Amino acid sequence: MTSWDADLLVVGAGPAGVAAAVMASSLRMKVLVVEAEQVGSKLQAIGAMENVPGGWSTGPALAEALAADLARHQRLGRVRVLSGRAVRVTGHGDRAEVALDDGRVLAASAAVVATGVTALAPGDVSWIAAPDIGWLSPLWRTTADELDGRRTVVLGADRPLGTWLRAHPNAKVHFDVLFPEVDQYKTDEVADDQRLRLDLIERVTVARVPEGFRVTAWRSGAAAHTFTADAVLTNLGSKPAAIPGLVAGAGGYCPPDEQHPRILVAGDLKGAKMQRIAVAMGDGSRAALTPYYQAQAVPS
Ligand SMILES: Cc1cc2nc3c(=O)[nH]c(=O)nc-3n(C[C@H](O)[C@H](O)[C@H](O)COP(=O)(O)OP(=O)(O)OC[C@H]3O[C@@H](n4cnc5c(N)ncnc54)[C@H](O)[C@@H]3O)c2cc1C
Repeated sequence: MTSWDADLLVVGAGPAGVAAAVMASSLRMKVLVVEAEQVGSKLQAIGAMENVPGGWSTGPALAEALAADLARHQRLGRVRVLSGRAVRVTGHGDRAEVALDDGRVLAASAAVVATGVTALAPGDVSWIAAPDIGWLSPLWRTTADELDGRRTVVLGADRPLGTWLRAHPNAKVHFDVLFPEVDQYKTDEVADDQRLRLDLIERVTVARVPEGFRVTAWRSGAAAHTFTADAVLTNLGSKPAAIPGLVAGAGGYCPPDEQHPRILVAGDLKGAKMQRIAVAMGDGSRAALTPYYQAQAVPS
């Protein structure tokens, strides 16, 4: 257990988690935030955005502001940020507990879990065979400089492809985008970009070779074609980053109404729709207010 006596645990410091922490701190609650990577890590990939009130036009600028918000509340002595990965959340009659991967167990009156979504990997989909390949980086986490002049295969045609291309209009890249039938409808918005070759396939295998990657793709009714690529990136969509102890429903998302009363869920983790920064912030704020008002209603 930590020696710090927290009122609220917050897991994940994205827009939802930071909003929860700031709201709780403003109500004079003591808040312990656990973050596995860095504050606003997901936002680093958003090169251009136009739907977040307050004049925010890039993700990194917003991430920096969120980190500054947390730092301000830390200086006030009401927020602490721990670096660590939560591996379980448990609701008890009198408290919520969060276990970390290093063995620490944190406890407070309630916990807000706002771990968002994480990129699907080749092993999560049936049309890719990439045994022994290890980790492949998602496209949306990759900078234009890393891909400059390299022949790059992108697996999947999920929407971040269009976002990436719009954010890097002058990037000198060549993408072979291999995608399955289910992604076909998403390709309209990128079809006229000369930097792409869109390739509808049935399945693909990827293996590491000394020159980079050997890729073999099968199109419907045609012979397999094999080529070598310098880089292979994933663009397969995402899955909820639910942690054990949460109640998960369709597709692994975590409906807030089905959780233990001391466990609140906020942001992208709630469901496949409505995955937006402004929504996540509202959710996080609401999640912090819920235990606050519940505590007010209980006579001491
Ligand atoms: C390429 C791209 C472009 C986007 N563009 C836009 C846009 O223009 N406008 C818009 O509104 N939205 C956009 N989004 C969506 C937006 O990023 C999300 O809706 C928003 O970040 C969700 O906030 P969140 O706090 O729920 O989750 P996240 O921002 O995903 O934050 C979750 C945090 O939890 C941490 N975490 C995860 N698991 C654990 C664990 N076990 N223990 C501890 N910490 C953990 C993660 O490191 C992360 O920092 C985009 C997303 C992507 C990928």
